[in-house]
Amino acid sequence: MGAAEPDASSAAKPRIVFLGPPNAGKGTQAARLAERLGIPTISTGDMLRQAVADGTPLGQEVQAVMARGELVSDALMAEVVRERLARDDAHAGFLLDGYPRTAPQVETLAGILRDAGTELDHAILLEVPRAVLIERAMRRFEDQERPDDDRAVVEKRLEVYEEDTAPLVDLYAGLGILRRIDGNRSMDDVSRAIEEAVGA
Ligand code: AMP
Repeated sequence: MGAAEPDASSAAKPRIVFLGPPNAGKGTQAARLAERLGIPTISTGDMLRQAVADGTPLGQEVQAVMARGELVSDALMAEVVRERLARDDAHAGFLLDGYPRTAPQVETLAGILRDAGTELDHAILLEVPRAVLIERAMRRFEDQERPDDDRAVVEKRLEVYEEDTAPLVDLYAGLGILRRIDGNRSMDDVSRAIEEAVGA
C-alpha cells in the first residue's frame, strides 16, 4: 500500500478536532463523543497541565506561558502532538481537543496525517456567545477549579482565541469538514447535536 493511501483497517473510526473558545464545553463534549466512538480523547491542555504537575522539562518550560493564558509555541506543540499521535491507540481514529489552535498547527497536523496516509474527517466548532463564556469562566473561578482562570487570564485566553484560533474556522470550512454546533444549550442537547453531525 502506498504511503498516501488510507489504511483500510482504521477507516471505520473518525479523526476529529474540536474547536471553540475557552469555556465552550469542549472538554466535556469531547470526552463524551470519544467514549461513544471508542476513540481516545487527546487534550493538549490536559497533557500540558499533567506535565506541569509532574514537573517534567516540558512542564517547566510551559508553566509560565500557560499561567498567562498565552499559547505554547507551535514548535513545542508539534513535538507533543506528533509523539502522541504516533502511539498505537491513536491509529484507528482520535479526537483532538485543544489542537490545532493556530494556522501553523493546522499545517503541522495535516502533515502528520498525510505522512500516515490519513486525514481529518470532522472539525467540530462549539459556538457560545461571549457573555455566556465569561459568566461560565467566573463561576469556575469562584469554584477555584482551575488556577489559570482568574479574570485577567480569562480575558487573555478569549483574546488569544479570537486572534489565533477563530481564523481556523474558515480554514476547515474551506476543506468542507466544519460542523457548527450551538453550544449554548443543555449538555445533553449539545451532545446529541454533535453525534448527529458526525453520524455517531
Ligand atoms: P486548554 O485546557 O485547552 O484551554 O489549554 C490550556 C492552556 O494550555 C492554553 O491556554 C495554552 O497555554 C496551552 N495549550 C493547550 N493546547 C495548546 C495548543 N494547541 N497550542 C498552544 N498552547 C496550547
